Amino acid sequence: MRDPRYDILFQPQKIGPLTAKNRFYQVPHCNGAGYRDPSAAAAMRGIKAEGGWGVIFTEQTEMHHSSEITPFIELRLWEDQDIPAIAKTAQAMKTHGGLAGIQLAYSGINGPNFYTKEVPMAVSPGPIRTFTNDPVQARGLDKTDIRNLRRWFVNAAKRSKTAGFDLICLYGAHGFGIFQHFLSRATNQRSDEYGGSLENRSRFAREVLADMRDAVGDTMALTLRVSLDEQIGRLGFSNAELREFIEMNGDLPDLWDLAQGTWEDCSGPSRFKDEAAQETLVKGIRELTSRPVVGVGRFTSPDVMARMVRQGTLDFIGCARPSIADPFLPQKIEQGRIDDIRECIGCNICITGDMTQSISRCTQNPTFMEEWRKGWHPEKMNPQGASQSVLIVGSGPAGLEAARALAVRGYDVALAEAEKVLGGRVAKERLLPGLSAWGRVADYRAYQIGKRANVQTYFDSHLTVDDILGFGFQNICIATGARWRADGVARLHVEPIQNAGLPVFTPDDLMTGRLPAGRVVVFDDDHYYMGGVLAELLAQRGAEVVLVTPSAYVSDWTLNTLEQAAIHRRLAAAGVKIVLNTGVTALTAAGVETACIYTGAAGEIGCDAVVMVASRVSDDQLYRDLLARQQEWADAGILSVKVIGDACAPGPIAWATYAGHRYARELDMPDLGDALPFRREVTGLQD
Ligand code: ADP
Ligand code: SF4
Repeated sequence: MRDPRYDILFQPQKIGPLTAKNRFYQVPHCNGAGYRDPSAAAAMRGIKAEGGWGVIFTEQTEMHHSSEITPFIELRLWEDQDIPAIAKTAQAMKTHGGLAGIQLAYSGINGPNFYTKEVPMAVSPGPIRTFTNDPVQARGLDKTDIRNLRRWFVNAAKRSKTAGFDLICLYGAHGFGIFQHFLSRATNQRSDEYGGSLENRSRFAREVLADMRDAVGDTMALTLRVSLDEQIGRLGFSNAELREFIEMNGDLPDLWDLAQGTWEDCSGPSRFKDEAAQETLVKGIRELTSRPVVGVGRFTSPDVMARMVRQGTLDFIGCARPSIADPFLPQKIEQGRIDDIRECIGCNICITGDMTQSISRCTQNPTFMEEWRKGWHPEKMNPQGASQSVLIVGSGPAGLEAARALAVRGYDVALAEAEKVLGGRVAKERLLPGLSAWGRVADYRAYQIGKRANVQTYFDSHLTVDDILGFGFQNICIATGARWRADGVARLHVEPIQNAGLPVFTPDDLMTGRLPAGRVVVFDDDHYYMGGVLAELLAQRGAEVVLVTPSAYVSDWTLNTLEQAAIHRRLAAAGVKIVLNTGVTALTAAGVETACIYTGAAGEIGCDAVVMVASRVSDDQLYRDLLARQQEWADAGILSVKVIGDACAPGPIAWATYAGHRYARELDMPDLGDALPFRREVTGLQD
């Protein structure tokens, strides 16, 4: 049962005219589904309701067609015909006594309007400020526009009420919402009564909240989401100014929702931000207002959550990523199942679903966004099929997740691992600078399978095809992973790079303790985190590091995990020399030869060794050996053999946990043939 230390987290809390059943508050978060996949988004929120969250929000909802953020896929509430799709979400949120919240956004200077082709309107005119430097400028709002905008907020509030929502969050954080644009002197250069003094800059928020209170405030709670510190220099809306604003307007919303800085600041990955990183910026704000306060900080520890409440810093524990990694986090705390919490690792893979306009995934929770598409539940598996036993070879994220999920289905599982530890790549990568929290991928699963009598784990067991044919397991799952190539083949080179005698190291070498010293070139043609992390590691160990990449950015795919700028800053601070737009063309005994990827201009960098962060090859020899002896399977009692995860095709860790989960779900299930393996929604045609 529940530990009394956490009772405080389950006290019902008032928000305006409503009462939340507990202090677990799922703050708005994107999911890459939005208006395109409304049922997938609704089912995901419904699972949070089942998991015990007291308050559950949508992602940002574009509340008027004159401001939208294409290419990003969020929700839309532009006209009545948008209501049914979001009503489905509201309904799902309320299934277990949760309160349903909608976040209304008018993006202003942040919305390029590529889809609607409307001229963007902002507090003050200027270039659109997005991730993509769009060649579009906004015009400034005139007084008529401001009156219109106030009316549009009221219209959106009424539609939200019709859709069945209980709360409305007005978005004024992360640089994304117009309330912040009015408040910040960086985006508000107006000389009328909406600009200048803080009182004037607060006017719009006061007017909209008053309008909305008149329209829907009797039954709905109204919250305002603001950034704790805009962190964009002298003119930015600072923490001191925020405190002044809240003091001045303490009772304005029914709840203050305190986010942080830009989205990159607020959703900092664990490599750069610890749990509760915003604590000092939040402390004391609650004393400035009679309204409750929610704040975030990648909270996964119930002790930290309880401390936040007990010491009077927060009234509600705001979570986005922790609620994605474990939608049942509140229920697990309530049931005293702390060790069962699937803690967020802070990798920000979930955010890449939004950034790439695909649909989100989660490294820790492979069922995220598959609740409706595939009918996957994060805590429940489908019943066991016809067979009984499974041998899983390899205990990386793919093998571990397959073992965990198959055990829940009821299979007898044997997990064989060549090494002395569980975790595969995670066991090694967790030792790299800043990646220790990634170890939770292995820890969570190791604990879960450790509790199950139907999983046997074998260490030091490097299996061969003869071993497998001799064992008598019915199903064989090959999850033997991948290794980094040493020959430089990746994107720039499809053939090995010529080497006239330079020592070459791979990421696997470095992760197993074989490190180069002296002057080292890290050649990164992988572009995710590994090149940057290894450059950091080598610099820490005293090497003189040059990072060379054909990309225009260090670790360029991490633009999607919101950490690219932080990585560049960290490497620069560590003294790593960064050479962009450059390929390594050949290795000589004295160093590397390079070429500019645009002009071909040749260069040389003298060094003692090169670290090739290129691509990986699957360790699938065992699988191929098994296929070669397929005629022996029947005698060996083998019904199926499958290769999954990096051994099938190398990818990020989230791809491996997904592959492991999928294998576990689909074992003994009927073959779908040519049918699509997930549900989707197709746009309805109008006349
Ligand atoms: P994935 O990301 O797909 O889970 P990993 O590379 O993280 O893959 O993990 C693969 C694991 O498989 C490693 O721990 C490795 O030691 C193990 N492994 C590889 N070949 C064998 C084998 N023949 N027998 C047992 N374990 C193996
Ligand atoms: Fe956390 Fe990573 Fe899952 Fe996002 S993808 S919720 S950061 S574990």
